Amino acid sequence: MRQVRRIYECQIEFGHDGAHGDLGQQSDMIEWWIRWTLSASEIEQVVACSTAPGESEQDVVCLLFEGHLGRHSFQLMQR
Ligand SMILES: [Zn+2]
Ligand SMILES: [Zn+2]
Repeated sequence: MRQVRRIYECQIEFGHDGAHGDLGQQSDMIEWWIRWTLSASEIEQVVACSTAPGESEQDVVCLLFEGHLGRHSFQLMQR
């Protein structure tokens, strides 16, 4: 079996404080995020942020984890 080494890319707003993070695995309500700093990395079970930008836009939700730093993912896409 061939091992594919996935390269993780931080999903949090550029220049944030604290550990970087990328989505590892996702199931129904549970998400596993890879969180890393320069010296360590760990896999954490987190709850999705799922914040919506407004009442009228419930289909657009933040794809980051609850309590993340920086802006919500839908705000990052508005460049
Ligand atoms: Zn980062
Ligand atoms: Zn968010």
